[in-house]
Amino acid sequence: MAPVTPTGGPGLQWAVHEVSICAAAVRAAEAKARELGGRRIAVLRLRIGALAGVVPEAMEFAYPVVCRGTLAEGSRLEVEHVPVRCLCESCEAEFEPKAAVYACPTCGRPSEKIVSGRELELAQIELE
Ligand SMILES: [Zn+2]
Repeated sequence: MAPVTPTGGPGLQWAVHEVSICAAAVRAAEAKARELGGRRIAVLRLRIGALAGVVPEAMEFAYPVVCRGTLAEGSRLEVEHVPVRCLCESCEAEFEPKAAVYACPTCGRPSEKIVSGRELELAQIELE
């Protein structure tokens, strides 16, 4: 018999990841909104790197649930996607890798130095 995961498979585990990201972002946004006089949040902007392992659909699903009962209830989520960028340690060129092996397009050497793409941060909030 195939093993059964009580959580319902990887799909839900991803959603759990997105829920915790949303919850952390909303908490940070709420703290900021309180600081500014407890105004309601209209828009919450997140910056998410291509390597952050976030599923956008799960994010959209999780967001309104997490916002319920907070200053962000009814707000809009906007996501800024950050592509992967590598830095070549040989010639110092910065590039966006096109394949699984991050080879520098300038000198051809593989790079292990990722300069962006792992972002997972609250970029901005707009208050009502
Ligand atoms: Zn190079």
